[in-house]
Amino acid sequence: MTDLIHLSAATLAGLLADGSVSSVEATRAHLDHIDAVDTDVHAFLHVATDAALAAAAAIDARRAGGESLAPLAGVPIAIKDVLATADMPSTAGSRILEGWIPPYDATVVRKLREAGLVPLGKTNMDEFAMGSSTEHSAYGPTRNPWDLGRIPGGSGGGSAAAVSAFEAPLALGSDTGGSIRQPAAVTGSVGVKPTYGGVSRYGAIALASSLDQVGPVSRSVLDAAMLHDVIGGHDPLDATSLPDIWPSMTEAARAGLADGALRGVKVGVIKELNGDGFQSGVKQRFDEALAILAGAGAEISEVSAPNFEYAVSAYYLILPAEASSNLARFDSVRFGMRVNPGSGPLTSERVMAATRDAGFGPEVKRRIILGTYALSAGYYDAYYGSAQKVRTLIQRDFDAAFSKVDVLVSPSAPTTAFKFGEKLADPMAMYLNDITTIPANLAGVPGMGLPIGLAPEDGLPVGLQVMAPARQDARLYTFGAALEKLLEAKWGHTLLSEAPPLTPTEMFATKEGAV
Ligand code: GLN
Repeated sequence: MTDLIHLSAATLAGLLADGSVSSVEATRAHLDHIDAVDTDVHAFLHVATDAALAAAAAIDARRAGGESLAPLAGVPIAIKDVLATADMPSTAGSRILEGWIPPYDATVVRKLREAGLVPLGKTNMDEFAMGSSTEHSAYGPTRNPWDLGRIPGGSGGGSAAAVSAFEAPLALGSDTGGSIRQPAAVTGSVGVKPTYGGVSRYGAIALASSLDQVGPVSRSVLDAAMLHDVIGGHDPLDATSLPDIWPSMTEAARAGLADGALRGVKVGVIKELNGDGFQSGVKQRFDEALAILAGAGAEISEVSAPNFEYAVSAYYLILPAEASSNLARFDSVRFGMRVNPGSGPLTSERVMAATRDAGFGPEVKRRIILGTYALSAGYYDAYYGSAQKVRTLIQRDFDAAFSKVDVLVSPSAPTTAFKFGEKLADPMAMYLNDITTIPANLAGVPGMGLPIGLAPEDGLPVGLQVMAPARQDARLYTFGAALEKLLEAKWGHTLLSEAPPLTPTEMFATKEGAV
């Protein structure tokens, strides 16, 4: 039988549609692989074996009944645990929500089910999506399939690891400051943060509401586009959802596969995101990618975004401020855990304090304290107000840059996957890791991370980030698919190819010198 777990979602969807494979077979193959590898990788917090097989059987029955189904019908998918699922626990990686089953599905989850995708389970993440390594998950970290001693990125390390370890062809993530793109970078997968408002946030457990976006994770640009088409579009249940009619991202990706797709495309290299502090192998692969783009007729120029240097500082005020407010809802009354104080009177305040003390981890507490402080009377203007002004300056930097170029590029992350414990004790070091991804969230513009090879010094994946003006997500897919095709032609395969390796690293060991 075909090796189902290594297929792209697009290829698998084709086999499902022509009847050569059933969704039950495809789903079972992924569940078996999860059984085999997830004790090592720990991408999943919950695996919905029976529900997945039942959903797959229902799709197979509908197909057998002659129904015409959506393009990805029958394809399995992993869902980040930040998204509400009515039939599975939704913990956001936190003890405070341990075992909590929401009364409804997030809009994106509802759309997945309506399109016939098969949810395999919920993926691990940093608690409430705060982090860049999944080391802040209350349920233990996820390990990077390329090297189990290293982080898979965060906060959506579980989704990226599930996809790169071939446990799922597709996953959903959420990106507030890079939690889709950075895990994609360090695991060799593709991840997209859509335009703010392009994908519904209804049922996504809120971190920072003005920054959060749900988006696709996959092993190819076309697969991400197909998933984007499923989850995108206006949602009356989300007050910040854009009313736009969106073009087909799938068609945009397919346009990128046509010859000459990059000819005349103006590509701006962000000067401030390519200098000191970037690992040499990251810079090398990035420069090689620029040369490949130029060879295909793209016009490369350097663009300055002088205010990006303040992005991390502004973000780490705005995010804790919004998070401290959003997380106030975990009050021991409405959701999840309740802890009674050991002694003394049982007042609601003391129960709330005992619950929040036991239920939240150290990073969540750090950010709640920081955010509450930044919003307090007397400090509000100095901190939150200033950060919002910086946000405007960063938006203006983007506007100026996009008046000259079609897309902006940078490395997706400053380094390849770091080792467990390397940055855990130093929150600033962890925060600085987000320097490349945060500006897009602050401005609301879309960004995609895609793999561009392995760093020569450590053999670990390197990602390139491409950003487009707000509402121009389709441009990312055309550009990304075109670059991916050129890299595939150079290497003879994609970074996480359909050829069946045992592990990502072994695949490359057999193709020595390919990247
Ligand atoms: N690493 C960033 C943070 O810790 C990104 C989080 C995210 O995108 N959810 O805030």
